[in-house]
Amino acid sequence: MIYGYAGKIALVDLSQQKVEEKELDQEVVELFIGGKGFLYYYGYKNIPPASDPLDPYANRLVVAAGGLAAHAPGASKTGFLAKSPLTRILCDTYAGQVFASKLRMAGYDVLIVYGRSPEPVYLYVENGRIEVRQASHLWGSYTWDTWMAVREETRRGASVAAIGPAGENRVRYANIMVDGFRAAGRCGLGAVMGSMNLKAIAVWGSIQPARADGEGWRKRFVQVYRELREEPSARAWARYGTNDGVSTCARLSMCPAWHWRRPWLSEDEAEKLSGDTVLSRQVPVNVYSRYAGVVWGWACPLKCSKLVSPRVKGLEHIVVKPEYENLAMLGLNPGIMDVDKVLYIQWLVNNLGMDSISYGETVSWLAELVETGVIEPSKLPQPSPSPGFSNPDYVIEAAKLTAQRRGVGAVLAEGEARAAKILGAGENVAVHVKGLEAPAWDPRGRRGLAISYATADIGASHLRGWPPRHEPPSKGPAKDTVADMLRDRDWKALLDSLGLCSFIPYTPAHIEELYAAVTGVRRKAEEMMLVGWRTEALARIHSALAGLTPSQDTIPGKWMEPIPQGPRRGERAVRDERDLEEAIREYYRLRGYHPVYGVPLPETLRKLGLDWAVSDAKKALEAMKQPSG
Ligand code: SF4
Repeated sequence: MIYGYAGKIALVDLSQQKVEEKELDQEVVELFIGGKGFLYYYGYKNIPPASDPLDPYANRLVVAAGGLAAHAPGASKTGFLAKSPLTRILCDTYAGQVFASKLRMAGYDVLIVYGRSPEPVYLYVENGRIEVRQASHLWGSYTWDTWMAVREETRRGASVAAIGPAGENRVRYANIMVDGFRAAGRCGLGAVMGSMNLKAIAVWGSIQPARADGEGWRKRFVQVYRELREEPSARAWARYGTNDGVSTCARLSMCPAWHWRRPWLSEDEAEKLSGDTVLSRQVPVNVYSRYAGVVWGWACPLKCSKLVSPRVKGLEHIVVKPEYENLAMLGLNPGIMDVDKVLYIQWLVNNLGMDSISYGETVSWLAELVETGVIEPSKLPQPSPSPGFSNPDYVIEAAKLTAQRRGVGAVLAEGEARAAKILGAGENVAVHVKGLEAPAWDPRGRRGLAISYATADIGASHLRGWPPRHEPPSKGPAKDTVADMLRDRDWKALLDSLGLCSFIPYTPAHIEELYAAVTGVRRKAEEMMLVGWRTEALARIHSALAGLTPSQDTIPGKWMEPIPQGPRRGERAVRDERDLEEAIREYYRLRGYHPVYGVPLPETLRKLGLDWAVSDAKKALEAMKQPSG
């Protein structure tokens, strides 16, 4: 028995409607912990690098509960991984709330789903059993409606991960929505579910995983919960969460406003989408309490989530209080400064089942191309609304067309990099890394952030480590920030592997004590953080075998242009090309990757306990050394 874990993984073949179960391996637990670690281990082992992401017989959807799911305050994160239809490389993405804890209490740590069902289906997982259920009646429905319907058909307390019309139509950045409110947003894993004819996965369980020291765990749980709740930053966090981010990005010149052309905003402008402006739309407690059981992460001590509603007649839908990324990519990026319209757009995009970052970036990019005369609106595939900034109707109508892949939506559904190829224009102003559209923090406002984006294994991600100090890029060489950024990257990877919300101010001691009480194994957080390096090393080998080259460890041209206005006027994401190159080399050096090709070296893999990946790394290196045809 492995204390704390359900001890089982399930492989679900949708084409045969067969389920095979395997025992969780002790050595895999030691090296990979859970959550993110399991995603990369099982993803690496089960998804061939050359596979087509939309081939359901080759790709796999891996779902994993974190090592502390069902055991720790705020263990809210469920991890999903597949080969991304957007970037063609492995990608992990996470959603909050309670799915992971329920999955473990249903008797599983990991689900691996593949194949294509002849008809739309959903999976229902309950107490050691997995059923494949008919879902034709749900096909075409919004993510919220799917959540409600599947709960009715299974259990009211079931947690449901569902796709919307965008996933069904294989929009390359379709997301997976968990319990109506939370998005596993990035990289188009909703399209992978769509390719399998899989509308949803519902989980419910009542099996308590055994803990090594039940009494000790109970005491420590209560103590940690109190400490986290009473932590001085918790009160402010509980009020705003990330939704006061627009004020922050405005002050620090880090906004993506008007498609990255206005990183700095005045206080008056920022106020239109500030945390307090959003909170003025909070819905009354009686409406709120109907959903309260599912709004927060599992046993969360902070409870930053709230519900809000736009004040526009006919559009008064309930939406979860937007994260900064939603406000910035659906508001600032397309220049929409009307909070009610932004809340409505968030509701629509979540219900259609699309990543708000990738959609917001792609639709804003097209607005810039039209505004600057690069593209004639009449030349766009029809139907098409008229692309332009500060035009909510454009963003709303384009979202509906994108989810259906109709007219201009068929182009937008491909994501920015492919859309530029289709239209034959705009790659020079596209803001993506490795094909993944950039999140909402402009690295021209913070030294070293560009290096995190450039080296993140999945493409532009704001969750792969931040440089700890806030300094402008002109302050010093970017390479001096790499070591600290990697430390933050590995800390976040540990939280994702344990399934803990990264907004909660956990300390290494909290993690060490809870993990020991649950599993009976005393480990230092420092040593557990190696999971970040391991998963990244596997991701880089897999990507290299899939054809990615080190030239893609870079940043988009827009971030090399100087900030045009405000206190940080003239700043670029890095000082110059050489500064970027030196920082990337430093990253390869610190990680033990090949100094030119960026592939993990055999001695690095052995040090990480990944000897079995050495021959793949050698193959990847040889492939890179071949002159490309
Ligand atoms: S801190 Fe906020 S986002 Fe994190 S688990 Fe709690 S409610 Fe969810």
